[in-house]
Amino acid sequence: MAAPVVDLDRKKLIRSEVLQFIRSDAAESLTADEILIWCIKNFSPRLSLACSFGAPEGLVLLDMMHRIDPASRVFVLDTGRLPQATYDLIDRVRDRYDKSIEVVFPRAEDVEQLVRTGGLNLFYESVDDRQRCCRARKVEPLRRYLAGADLGAWVTGLRRDQNVTRVDTPKVEIDTANGGLVKVNPIANWTSDRVHDYVAEHGVPINRLHAEGYPSVGCAPCSRAVKPGDDPRSGRWWWENVDTRECGLHVDEENEGSGI
Ligand code: SF4
Repeated sequence: MAAPVVDLDRKKLIRSEVLQFIRSDAAESLTADEILIWCIKNFSPRLSLACSFGAPEGLVLLDMMHRIDPASRVFVLDTGRLPQATYDLIDRVRDRYDKSIEVVFPRAEDVEQLVRTGGLNLFYESVDDRQRCCRARKVEPLRRYLAGADLGAWVTGLRRDQNVTRVDTPKVEIDTANGGLVKVNPIANWTSDRVHDYVAEHGVPINRLHAEGYPSVGCAPCSRAVKPGDDPRSGRWWWENVDTRECGLHVDEENEGSGI
């Protein structure tokens, strides 16, 4: 089991009032807008939004953050297996918001090793192989970006009702798996309907595959359309049990063993 890496110097940089705010649970009663204003005020420009461009949540937050601070930062993990629709959306968003998107790639040597030992489609073979692929293409790049992008905080579109593994997601927390950064989840208490209402109201660009039945769009070989009324998560890693369907990006290694 890998121990979480906590950067003590970075923790010292978190001002005491910020820590007090997080510990008081005061964020729970704030709106998403209020939380974003709080974190932009306290961390900008050392603040970046994680946006997959495969779910409306990240794009809603991108729109909200851009309205508050047009210089707000956003990054995406390009696993090398994303569908064309996602690449098209990244460029569309870049044009619409006149925003530079920080695209993060996996290490070439990791992907070469993965493919040489497991084949190009190893993710269908076993949970273990699928997790190896997610580690090389997503988890390592995320860890590397968060450690090297001069950040004090990062923002995610996690929602509590997305999965059984996310029901306890706080709106603001200390991310011990990523050097003690502040992790901000402003729409943790939002429903899917509320996300879609925001998209419609503000004309937020979203992935065109949603209109073809994909509730969320990840890597092309690991995402599929679902029937109306089916569990939205059944469109991702559908060949696995529901309790293993996490890519490891949001799992605390200390609490969850391997973290993936
Ligand atoms: S979602 Fe699938 S293709 Fe993408 S990194 Fe994970 S296992 Fe690999």
